[in-house]
Amino acid sequence: MKGQQTCAESRRRLVESLRREGIIRSEAVERAMLKVPREMFLPPSLRDKAYLDTPLPIGCAQTISAPHMCAILCEHLELREGQTVLEVGTGSGYQAALLAEIVAPSNTSQPGHVYSTEVIQQLVSFSTQNLENTGHSDRVTVIHADGALGYQEKQPYDRVVVTAAAPAVPSPLIQQLKDGGRLVIPLERSFFMQELYLVEKKKGREVRTALMPVAFVPLRGRYGSRP
Ligand code: SAH
Repeated sequence: MKGQQTCAESRRRLVESLRREGIIRSEAVERAMLKVPREMFLPPSLRDKAYLDTPLPIGCAQTISAPHMCAILCEHLELREGQTVLEVGTGSGYQAALLAEIVAPSNTSQPGHVYSTEVIQQLVSFSTQNLENTGHSDRVTVIHADGALGYQEKQPYDRVVVTAAAPAVPSPLIQQLKDGGRLVIPLERSFFMQELYLVEKKKGREVRTALMPVAFVPLRGRYGSRP
């Protein structure tokens, strides 16, 4: 495993290149990407690959998304301090930590919070431990559940993000989104093709914008293409 200083340096270089490429556009996303140690969300044997801009396996046939994709999701969500965010697909907990750094930076009294759902129990344990190790457990709550059903207890949400590809936008997620809220989700378009969508709720109406082609693991459960 790399030393802490080497990691911080590699992280700084990666963030700089994402900024140069125009992927990181806001200071808030840049600050979060500089702050969250991605190596702490990986199995120990993969920690030296933490700052390659690529997805990596986290066990149970699932992956942590590439850093550029995490940044893209954060940018399209247009997150603000104090917001309540629902994430579907906690995986390693890395994306949840980034979201938390923006809506609930540790030096604020604004009560922003991230609720993150995960269907695989082993990944619930993995992400919970990771978020505890990095000091995010007070700002992120991990819930073992089919996240496509939303999380009724804390709705409505300012922002919703889904990190697994769905055949269609699960209706509970729209219902639990605040008016004026933003939802970002990868949708399956054909056998090998997925597209990232932004769904805005405006005066009760849904406005959809296709953003870009992407590759995510499939959503499971009631609204997924896998059991
Ligand atoms: N955001 C994650 C990426 C995880 S990959 C990270 O930063 O590491 C997608 C995750 O979604 C996987 O862990 C998978 O188990 C989970 N998932 C798939 N279908 C789900 C569902 N219906 N509800 C909650 N989680 C789901």
